[in-house]
Amino acid sequence: MELWIATGNKGKLEEYRMALRAVPDIQIFHQGEIKGFTARPEDGQTFLDNARIKAKTLKAVKPNAWVLGEDAGLEVVGLNNLPGVHSARYAGPKAADSENVAKLLKMMQIRNVSPRTAQFKCVTVVITPDNQEWIFEGTMKGTIGPKAVGQMGFGYDPVFVPDNETKTLAELGPGYKIQHSHRAQALNQFLEKLNSVLPQQ
Ligand code: IMP
Repeated sequence: MELWIATGNKGKLEEYRMALRAVPDIQIFHQGEIKGFTARPEDGQTFLDNARIKAKTLKAVKPNAWVLGEDAGLEVVGLNNLPGVHSARYAGPKAADSENVAKLLKMMQIRNVSPRTAQFKCVTVVITPDNQEWIFEGTMKGTIGPKAVGQMGFGYDPVFVPDNETKTLAELGPGYKIQHSHRAQALNQFLEKLNSVLPQQ
């Protein structure tokens, strides 16, 4: 099967490619491979709204394909669950990951946030070739470290320490995320559902 992923985020795409490597007969494509493709603004109020916007925009140009749209972000309890749906643009519309991390650490210092409890959330919308909409969700709980540590991953990985770990996601690396992340949880639910509906070979 051909699965089209509605993302321009290289870090996410890399995680999908790794996680789906063992799935037989799957070919992964992404929106950047479509000439002239323009993503719609992510102006939804929730992760689900934005995941649906992404999936539907890609489905409009790939009507017969399996399409997956995903929206994810970091919620810090002591910051009223910010940056949340604004995670990619927390420090500004074109902010780099390092700028978003710097703003997060600064806001936590200014607000004197304690405890530093946080969670990553992921909502995934899959639109099937016959236009059914499937929704999957994942959550990973943890805390925000005092400074950025580690070189792997993307986004807020260098400051996120999962529960029961002492290292950040950027130190733990992709193998850990494929097993435990918010994205992996949603993706595994999708794969289970796919297995239950596709004819067995
Ligand atoms: P999206 O591409 O609109 O879903 O933006 C998600 C943003 O949330 C990313 O740009 C990251 O800043 C953050 N984010 C989502 N998932 C992760 C993750 O697995 N690790 C680190 N940051 C993440």
